[in-house]
Amino acid sequence: LLLFACLVIMPVASARSWSDDPVIEARVETLLEQMTLEEKIGQISQYSGGALTGPGSGRSGYEDVIAHGRVGSLFNVSGPDVNRYQRIAMGQSRLKIPLIFGLDVIHGYRTIFPIPLALSATWDPAFIEKSATIAAMEARADGIRWTFSPMVDIARDARWGRITEGAGEDPYLGSAMARAYVRGYQGKSLNQEASILACMKHYVGYGAAEGGRDYNTTEIPERLLRDIYLPPFQAGIEEGAATVMSAFNALNGVPASANAFTLSQILRKEWQFKGFVVSDWTSIAETIAHGTALDGADAARKSIMAGVDMDMQSDLYRTSLADEVNAGKVPVAVIDEAVRRVLRVKFAMGLFDDPYARIEPEKMLTPEHRQLAREAAEKSFVLLKNDGILPLKRGARVALIGPLADSAGNMLGAWGAKGEAADVVTLRAAMATELGAELTYSIGTEILTDSRSGFTEAVEAARRADVAILALGEDAPTMTGEAASRTDLDLPGNQQALLEAVAATGKPVVLLVFSGRPLVLTRAAEQAGAMLEAWFPGVEAGPALVRTLYGDSNPSGKLTASFPRAVGQLPLYYNHLATGRPLAPEFDANSAGSAPKYTSRYIDQANSPLYPFGFGLSYTTFSYGPPKLEAESYSAAELNEGKGQVKVSAEVTNSGPRPGEEVVQLYVGQRGTSVARPVRELKGFRRVALEPGETKAVEFVLERNELAFWNIDMKNVVEPAALKIWIAGSSASGTPSEVSIR
Ligand code: BGC
Repeated sequence: LLLFACLVIMPVASARSWSDDPVIEARVETLLEQMTLEEKIGQISQYSGGALTGPGSGRSGYEDVIAHGRVGSLFNVSGPDVNRYQRIAMGQSRLKIPLIFGLDVIHGYRTIFPIPLALSATWDPAFIEKSATIAAMEARADGIRWTFSPMVDIARDARWGRITEGAGEDPYLGSAMARAYVRGYQGKSLNQEASILACMKHYVGYGAAEGGRDYNTTEIPERLLRDIYLPPFQAGIEEGAATVMSAFNALNGVPASANAFTLSQILRKEWQFKGFVVSDWTSIAETIAHGTALDGADAARKSIMAGVDMDMQSDLYRTSLADEVNAGKVPVAVIDEAVRRVLRVKFAMGLFDDPYARIEPEKMLTPEHRQLAREAAEKSFVLLKNDGILPLKRGARVALIGPLADSAGNMLGAWGAKGEAADVVTLRAAMATELGAELTYSIGTEILTDSRSGFTEAVEAARRADVAILALGEDAPTMTGEAASRTDLDLPGNQQALLEAVAATGKPVVLLVFSGRPLVLTRAAEQAGAMLEAWFPGVEAGPALVRTLYGDSNPSGKLTASFPRAVGQLPLYYNHLATGRPLAPEFDANSAGSAPKYTSRYIDQANSPLYPFGFGLSYTTFSYGPPKLEAESYSAAELNEGKGQVKVSAEVTNSGPRPGEEVVQLYVGQRGTSVARPVRELKGFRRVALEPGETKAVEFVLERNELAFWNIDMKNVVEPAALKIWIAGSSASGTPSEVSIR
């Protein structure tokens, strides 16, 4: 089986040419020969800004350890400090090996873009690539050469706070996004002017935390791992990603940061990854808490042996690996290999030749960057409901209500890097510019409070206005991101009650939802006439929302994570397997309680999500013709040889009154296969702009990559199957065409 897996490796992409450059290899070997064991271990030790404890910490900060060549990388250090530390490495350390400076540049550096989950809702990899390029440019202008991004963890459970950092629940979309980020950050070569290293994280399975509770253990059978969780990592690595971060979680009982199967077998042997693996923050030390390591030395040994090259923050490589080597417990060859990987990347980045940063604050938050952040926000908004209130008519009196309408800090979402609240144009500010005296604002309630003292003023404001816009949702810093898992996904605090109080005035209500995850909007949808998922939209939140509310921008985002009707449905994802007792579609809406008893269902809730993966409305409407194929059957053998293609197209028409963009999605479903396949799987998508009345034929090509899966023998192949193909506007719409793979 392993042999087979090795045979199906994709050819090395040209973007990875840094990994097999003979000049670099020679420089690495020459340097390695001169290094002491301590210096080698230094190269694979990484620390966050702040004081380092332990030997060598006598002088301020890191200066001593850097001068002794005991550090390979620092992170959370930026600006002029970068050059100060680099001067010590280059001037005082024996071998003058430059440091790499890292930081979590997750959705922008100073110009903060929408959160990654929102960016994924654009379904626009080219645009995401641009946003990553801008992030890289700004980070470089502040001395940063390495970002811990993209997070490509598949997330099927909205309770998990870090769903905000990824591209949602689908591996095909997630792979496209992974590639886009890597291209955007790294550019064409690692040593080009605005390139920063990408880091595929968190390898692997981190998003599958049981119960959606961050850091919790994960159990993922190998087929599921290979079909769902691994593809975005592999895609990013094929695109040339230079680094990978090993995760906190245990995977099938083995900590991901000491997991030889995922780190050595899959990453190195099967995928031929030539970059280096960094642990997550103290995740090497955490293998002791997981129970697989006895103490620090045991943890360091098991992690390096499994394939974690660099120790982020545990300080265990620096404090124990030399003893382990001297005691014969860790072969020096293992250390050498980890050091090679780090040095290879440092050479490829051109760091030895040009170690110092040009600090150029004027490159940040430029008007062009802001403009792109605004466009990104507009493309990421998902219109969930619209009974015709939107777009708003100019001249209407607006009551703007809610704790997110004027909360600049929240607009930055989790991991705001160097973004500043003062950079944000809030909705309130942008509305005031647009409306002047026709706008009233009242907060109504805080995000989390027991007090309803602001309700009266908000309700009065709504009474005096023509329309009420409510800006409700989560508190980004405390409720989203790392260590922010939740069991209650309703609008937090009093906000649902505020919504109900305002809606009771009978005035039209537009609800803007600000959140880092799918919330449970079942009750909210009963109150609001229109509902727009705004996520956390970044520095240009206000202008993007105003343009959208007034129809200058037509919403075109589509969900990349299912929105549940109730938390009890989680985990919830569209690409699930069928059961032997499926519900007939007519029972799958709001009425599960009335479905036949012995079916797979809840007695008190429907199976389906409130808003499915791929869903999003527009101010216009789109209609779809049937998927058309050139043949009735296709050969599995030819597809497996890379020769066959299934070409399929459908006509998509803008059947409504306005120009708009539609994300056209292709799904497949296979039956008769050796293992059951998901009811639907995304295998293609394209953003199409259509004028009113215009029709375009949208064509997709399915090849081996799209149709193969890990079969009963754990081979990645195309099998004979009955194949259904949908081309539709969401994972829950469309009528399939059927063909056979023989
Ligand atoms: C997170 C990583 C992050 C790292 C460094 C950890 O707590 O899990 O995603 O890159 O910290 O800041």
